[in-house]
Amino acid sequence: MELPQTPTSLCCCRKSIPGSGPPGAPNRLSGNQNRPQGGPPGPRSPPLEDVASASNFRAFRLLHFHLDLRLNFAVKEMSGWLVLDLVPVQPGVQTLVLDSHPSLLVRSIDCKVPGTGTGTGLEEPVSLTYRVDPFTDYGSALSISLPPAVRTGRMIRVTVRYTTTDGPAVWWLDPDLTCGRSRPLVFTQGHSVCNRSFFPCFDTPAVKSSYSASVRVPDGVTVLMSASRTSYSQPDRVFQFSMEFPVPSYLVALVAGDLDHVDLGPRSRVWAEPCLLPCAVKNLGGSVERWLAVAEEMFGPYLWGRCDLVFLPPSFPIVAMENPCLTFIIASILESSDFLLIDVVHEISHGWFGNAVTNATWEEMWLSEGLATYAQRRVTSQACGEAFTCLETVVRLDALHRQLRLLGEDNPVSKLQVKFEPGVNPSSLMNLFTYEKGFCFVSYLSELCGDVKRFDQFLRDYIQEFKFQSVVSQDFISYFLRYFPELQEAAVAEREGLEFERWLSGSGPPPFEPDLSAGQSLIQPVQDLCDLWTTSDPPDPSRLRPFDLSAWNTFQVVLFLDRMLDRSPLPPGVMSSLSSCYSTLFDGLNAEVQIRWLQMVVRNSFYPDLPRVRAFLHKHTSRMYTVPLYEDLVAGVMKCVAMEIFCQTQRRLHPNLRRTLQQLLFGPGLAPPPDLATPPAPATPTLNGSAPSSPLETAAAMATAATATAAIALRDVNVSA
Ligand SMILES: [Zn+2]
Repeated sequence: MELPQTPTSLCCCRKSIPGSGPPGAPNRLSGNQNRPQGGPPGPRSPPLEDVASASNFRAFRLLHFHLDLRLNFAVKEMSGWLVLDLVPVQPGVQTLVLDSHPSLLVRSIDCKVPGTGTGTGLEEPVSLTYRVDPFTDYGSALSISLPPAVRTGRMIRVTVRYTTTDGPAVWWLDPDLTCGRSRPLVFTQGHSVCNRSFFPCFDTPAVKSSYSASVRVPDGVTVLMSASRTSYSQPDRVFQFSMEFPVPSYLVALVAGDLDHVDLGPRSRVWAEPCLLPCAVKNLGGSVERWLAVAEEMFGPYLWGRCDLVFLPPSFPIVAMENPCLTFIIASILESSDFLLIDVVHEISHGWFGNAVTNATWEEMWLSEGLATYAQRRVTSQACGEAFTCLETVVRLDALHRQLRLLGEDNPVSKLQVKFEPGVNPSSLMNLFTYEKGFCFVSYLSELCGDVKRFDQFLRDYIQEFKFQSVVSQDFISYFLRYFPELQEAAVAEREGLEFERWLSGSGPPPFEPDLSAGQSLIQPVQDLCDLWTTSDPPDPSRLRPFDLSAWNTFQVVLFLDRMLDRSPLPPGVMSSLSSCYSTLFDGLNAEVQIRWLQMVVRNSFYPDLPRVRAFLHKHTSRMYTVPLYEDLVAGVMKCVAMEIFCQTQRRLHPNLRRTLQQLLFGPGLAPPPDLATPPAPATPTLNGSAPSSPLETAAAMATAATATAAIALRDVNVSA
């Protein structure tokens, strides 16, 4: 594989990461000082960033940035300028390097520097020279030569005028791809390293700053951002936003289209296209405020003011994204109320874990996802009961073990601390380990503490200690051991088989899993039914009678189908009996259930239910409900059916999804038949996005491929960002 052209500094060790908190905040990222003897693992190698700006983002403190953009739907273009307020913190800095992308065209750059007098005013702008260098297949390096007058400790203001079109972060939807089908819509998706195609930035979670924005749009378009709206000027059609707290670049997000809202509570509001809104309101009701209150009780005040949600059309590439003040969530999830609940609570939990306290490097995504998953389950335990929460956990841990069986226990992607080679796309490591192994580690720490409420208090204080900063694992662990000196005294970090070092840098399954027996009343019937179907051929109807699937909740049915999928292929007689028992019932249930049943149909080549597969793929146009089924069709004997369905439906698919499916059906680099040709689309930020470029990424890509063919679907891997 061709490695990216990177500056040598990318390969150098880094001793520290600069403070990323509010202006004036002390550096808090190197938690290694005062590390207790016999405590947690020693200082790990400094993280390798996958950012072009890594060569010098430590040379500046970013105070604030402002975006001033005009959206042009006719040509699918955003144009305007970015203003960066920066303080050089290292002497002799002559170059500013920002992450950028080939889809972003820089028009001019200027800079204001402090005057020569003692005042703090900035002089007239001077034009700067710049160049764009290739960096990786997901970005480029924008190097800006600074004027000689730049001085350490004195703010400069750099303005970049630019235009951006349809890079990985910016998704333009023609009216046909929206739910209402009458007006276009555009949204951005920054996670993990896509926002460099939205605006030039330090595209690393280690750097945070406040931001503001002015966005001008055509008549009839409403703009929302991951910030508070401060004003709206009707004659100019300009929306203004302000995010007063420091956030990393990946949490800057925008959506613009035909959007309407309904208030759910004093600080929560649901936004959607008008045709979706009643359904969204009906499904959420007052739940958001209730879940928020439960989370606040456990983890302290919600810091972001607004807690709104916007439902996006099926082209949204993931399930949900925890953008501050405004969670982005796919409308398709409205079909499955239990999944909607889990996803919304998960995104709310990111308000504390991930957004307030952020992983400083993508190599330790578990600090966001593992902690958010733990917090999500603490909230659902309170709000929906222990049994339900344990059941949901079992579904996900099942998927984790399935993935491990496929990958092998020594696969490096199963580590909580992965090691990036420069240029590896961090999006390729969005996997279940960051969520579920991370969750198990946090559960283990809670178990060590011995009192779940005391552990809640620890998490509350952890947020208070590190809020608006970016941390590494060592910060979290050191804080844990300082918080519980008796555990430090007992050398819990060194317990054989459960060493913290093993948790963080060991591959394989979690060394500990929490006790989920509280879910037994819901889980045991599922297991009993699975056993019945797989031990007799087919089971006697009288023995099936006690199992009333229509009374089960979604996660029970999903667990049943997942476990039957694990045992596929099944004897033909069993598939036939399963179909006559449940097919009609599943037709009336939600898409999460249907897709699993249809995966069974495909993997067992059960032709009588093939019309149901066709109907499903004609109805659903989201990545999460199409890709897994296409993958199964392609892997089996039904590939020609997949091609036929693709031909019939491709015009209603987003170009990025179309490209993913084309690659699935025709192979990478192979052109589809002329009648299937579609325009090229930018790489997507999902697991199938780009060609592997290193052994680790290859492993991740293999994981994706394995996922495709053996019972782990994208929806499991990429459930929530
Ligand atoms: Zn998440």
